[in-house]
Amino acid sequence: MAPDGQTIAPNVYDAEPIPEAARAEIDRLLRSGDLFRYTAPEGAPVALLESEFAALLGSRYALAVSSCSAALFLSLKALDLPRDARVLIPAFTFAAVPSAVVHADCVPVLVEVGDNYRVDMADFAAKLPTAHAVMISHMRGHTSDMDAIMALCDAAGVPVIEDAAHSLGTTWHGRNIGTIGRVGCFSFQSYKLVNAGEGGIMVTDDPEIAARAIIMSGAYEQNWKKHPGLQNSFGHWQNKLPLYNLRMQNLSAAVIRPQLPLVADRVAKGLANHDYVADRLNQTSCLHVPPALAPESRAPDSIQFNLTGDWTDAQALGFQAAAKARGVSVQVFGLSEGNARAFWNWQFLGEPPHLPQTRAMLMRACDVRLPARLTRAELDYIADALMDAAKDAQNA
Ligand SMILES: *Cc1c(COP(=O)(O)O)cnc(C)c1O
Repeated sequence: MAPDGQTIAPNVYDAEPIPEAARAEIDRLLRSGDLFRYTAPEGAPVALLESEFAALLGSRYALAVSSCSAALFLSLKALDLPRDARVLIPAFTFAAVPSAVVHADCVPVLVEVGDNYRVDMADFAAKLPTAHAVMISHMRGHTSDMDAIMALCDAAGVPVIEDAAHSLGTTWHGRNIGTIGRVGCFSFQSYKLVNAGEGGIMVTDDPEIAARAIIMSGAYEQNWKKHPGLQNSFGHWQNKLPLYNLRMQNLSAAVIRPQLPLVADRVAKGLANHDYVADRLNQTSCLHVPPALAPESRAPDSIQFNLTGDWTDAQALGFQAAAKARGVSVQVFGLSEGNARAFWNWQFLGEPPHLPQTRAMLMRACDVRLPARLTRAELDYIADALMDAAKDAQNA
């Protein structure tokens, strides 16, 4: 509330403070200068993060790296795919995902996504026979049908990597997202649930994939000995794999570790916030928030909804502007200039493929940040602003 009692638009972009517990550990690291994960024989902050994260997810192995993009790249490399291997990815994702595929000397094949933001299973099934691997991006934390995807991929013998960058805390039949495919990759970039500025981590139960990824991440010479539980797997790969040096450093781990115990609370609050705003928006006939799939329990820090019914592009742009005038920033994915989540902007891939369903979705799908820390009054402000902006735009 402003001093005169008038509600002002909530700031949804500010980060939250890093827990105070990080400070003592960072001071200790600064005093010792021990920032490199492999200097200490054991107990380095990065190594502790890996064991804590593996325990949190219920995975056997975790490898902390410089970003989720690095984790996606290393996952593909660790699968030992042939050069120019075809990797299916959803056509609705962040530009870093096809970029990681290209970086790994593979060819991204874009799969149609429905107006519920999830992989279209008919197009997926049609494209799977030519694929060497599948990378499922749970974009904005929306889980695609992992039962159907795993059934098809297991039958075809095609490995699945989960891009769970934005899905920490999401579950599917009660199981953590990121632990269903062969490898799961998470991000600690500032706009994700756990904020280290930059950073990523991959989890797997497969000792060979873990060993290969650890060496390629930069565990040169015998540094892999500092990763527990893999001693039989490493020896074979010593000196046989490139060292891409995508390691995480100790300061990042010191920022991340005290946030892990807060994940459950952030997930509960984020989901409650999301569902509250979703219920309000769904009372307006021209706005629709697609429901979660039945096996899915979500962990949102933003909300996506569709402009439904007869909207022209001009009206959709008018909606963006009318919300902005009320202090609420909405992006229609396909109508905001150069949006990195619109596949036709991924010009590094060449001519954009024909994906009418995904294109139609992106032209009417809206994105609003909704951090867990927002109060009920702030959520009401955002919901009111969006509903009023929709009315204005439709009447214009
Ligand atoms: C943020 C994000 C990424 C990239 O993560 P970085 O850690 O910034 O590399 C990849 N995929 C999705 C779905 C994301 O949300």
